[in-house]
Amino acid sequence: MNYLIRLKGAVLDILSPPICLICEKALQKTEKEEYICASCFNSIPINTALYCSICRARLADNKKVCHKKDSYLLGAATSYDDEKVKKLIWRLKYKKQKCAAKPLAKILLAYIGPIRPISPASLIIPIPLHPSRERGRGFNQSEAIAEEISKTLGVKLMTGNLIRIKNTKPQPEIKGLEKRQENIAGCFAVKNPELIKGKKIIPIDDVFTSGSTMNEAVKILRKAGAARVIGLVIAKV
Ligand SMILES: [Zn+2]
Ligand SMILES: [Zn+2]
Repeated sequence: MNYLIRLKGAVLDILSPPICLICEKALQKTEKEEYICASCFNSIPINTALYCSICRARLADNKKVCHKKDSYLLGAATSYDDEKVKKLIWRLKYKKQKCAAKPLAKILLAYIGPIRPISPASLIIPIPLHPSRERGRGFNQSEAIAEEISKTLGVKLMTGNLIRIKNTKPQPEIKGLEKRQENIAGCFAVKNPELIKGKKIIPIDDVFTSGSTMNEAVKILRKAGAARVIGLVIAKV
């Protein structure tokens, strides 16, 4: 059976040799499982600190000096201005290429490594999509990334508890912070708060633009009793 799986893989490689999802050059054998080449990966700048979720100040030593009463810290692996990162996210969300979650998770893991925002007892919760949106894409992009993080770090992934109860317009279609906040208000709910209460929660999303989506999710998680929250995203604007 293993032989047949390997054979199938080899035939597929000949028919459509694996290429880097960013520069589209053929991948080396060692890069095949990564979906991007080493040179593209190494050229992506990785951030080295957490951020204030209100003013986005970079927090030296990951400690709050501003907005001390803020309900969560923001972890953003890189910048959405980076064209390579943008391309990977575009492939994942709009070209429905679920395999792009793997290199995006690798970027997030490179960021997480030295900062260690996730402890073994944390709960990773991907920002949910409305079921009709998820059906359209075939998967939830944040969940695809969160799955990789959970697998690699051995930290529990929780899905189906934080849910989306309102089918809102996609945030990129809405201009202005106030309008975005209005659009997203009341769109999340927690089914079973007991599973959240007293825990350190790590919501994961792909991009942090206005912050409205993450803010709203954290508000609901806090209401459900989350003790600490660190919101993680691949890229922030
Ligand atoms: Zn490349
Ligand atoms: Zn601040």
